[in-house]
Amino acid sequence: MKLTRTIVLESYPLTKRKFRAIKEVYDEYSEILKFLTDYAVENRIKNPLKLRKHFYDELKEKHSLPTHYYYTVCQDAVTRAKKFIELKKKGEARTEKPVIRNVSLWLDDVLWDYKRFPQFNTLRNGRKILVIGLTTKIGRIKLPLKPHKLFFKYINEGWNVKAGVKLRIVEKERKTLAYFVFEKEFDELEVTGSFLSVDYNVDNVSFGTHEFLIQVGTDLGRLTRFYSDVRKNIQESHLVGWKRKLPSGKSRKLLKKFGQRKMNRRVDLQRKLAKRLVELARELNVTIVLERVPKNFNQKVTKKRGKNEKRLRNTLHNIGMNGFQRFVLEKAVEFGVPVVFVNPSYSSQVCPHCGAFRIKPDDDALRRRVFKCPVCGFSLDRDFVAVLNLLWLFPFSLKADEPPVEGSVSPVMLVVEANLLHHKNSLVVIGQGLQQK
Ligand SMILES: [Zn+2]
Repeated sequence: MKLTRTIVLESYPLTKRKFRAIKEVYDEYSEILKFLTDYAVENRIKNPLKLRKHFYDELKEKHSLPTHYYYTVCQDAVTRAKKFIELKKKGEARTEKPVIRNVSLWLDDVLWDYKRFPQFNTLRNGRKILVIGLTTKIGRIKLPLKPHKLFFKYINEGWNVKAGVKLRIVEKERKTLAYFVFEKEFDELEVTGSFLSVDYNVDNVSFGTHEFLIQVGTDLGRLTRFYSDVRKNIQESHLVGWKRKLPSGKSRKLLKKFGQRKMNRRVDLQRKLAKRLVELARELNVTIVLERVPKNFNQKVTKKRGKNEKRLRNTLHNIGMNGFQRFVLEKAVEFGVPVVFVNPSYSSQVCPHCGAFRIKPDDDALRRRVFKCPVCGFSLDRDFVAVLNLLWLFPFSLKADEPPVEGSVSPVMLVVEANLLHHKNSLVVIGQGLQQK
């Protein structure tokens, strides 16, 4: 399995001459990009080669960029056009034509000295500078970049840099930002004999083995509802009469800000939790069991009717189950922990104690989020039941004649706060502690 990571490196402030040379390329590139993107949208062009073939001579005649920029700008334009056409199809495009903000220069292996990567200069104080050569109209100029810890980590761990680099400029500070993509191939791992399963919910993530169960309160649902209420208020303050006016520039910015803030906090929490979980699994030498998220999960979510249900489903969608699964999988691959996916269809309807099947919860049980078995009387937090059942679901397929062994369930249980995730190996410490009990 191949993993990729993007790393951003900031440059030192550049001399006026160097910055002018980059800006010159940047402005011309932006102009061409705008023109080509419009053209690609209008003519439904999805192949950059086609676009290049059509315009190459014209571009060379009108402009004076080093030729490889005409290759990359076509790719850039087609990528943007495709995204816009997709948005339009879904009815989410706000404008008739694609709007181009945030241009970055796309570089290929010729436009920067990819083959000589990484080249360093050392300052007098011992600090290293990463130097890359960039092709401009006045020839190749050298960009001094500030490498950081994470950058060296990827270099030292044998990740390879890809030829495609994106370059942004920060005009005020006469700097550039370089976006490098690293990739590395990881081996497929063999599944070990014991398992740790994970159940992802609106307000908590629960996981465990046959020995212990842990629940981390994440409050992602509350967080999402809070931010979506804030967003709604901003939107509603712009209802004029019966007609909805488009929010002004200022509120649009606010909306975006709150959307972004929600995303950042969620992603940050998910990443941390994923990392802690994988640390724990590595330490216990177990295979992680995750629910297989249906492929059309998002469509299913939006199609379901009913206001309350819609809200819950929206929340589920917004808390990003897909994203979390991906973080766990990626970390696991990196750490050498095997992962399996199981179909969670019955994970909340089987009694983990006696194996009774298709248990429909009554309203009271649903409200209290408790699982209660009408056959043997076993009762437990619903999310823990899901965790236990995910353990049973692999590697056996669930059939009525293969129930879990009766009375085999007696794990230790613990509920913890999300704050704890800030500490490295915190789940390892807790998990090991619980296992010894
Ligand atoms: Zn039972």
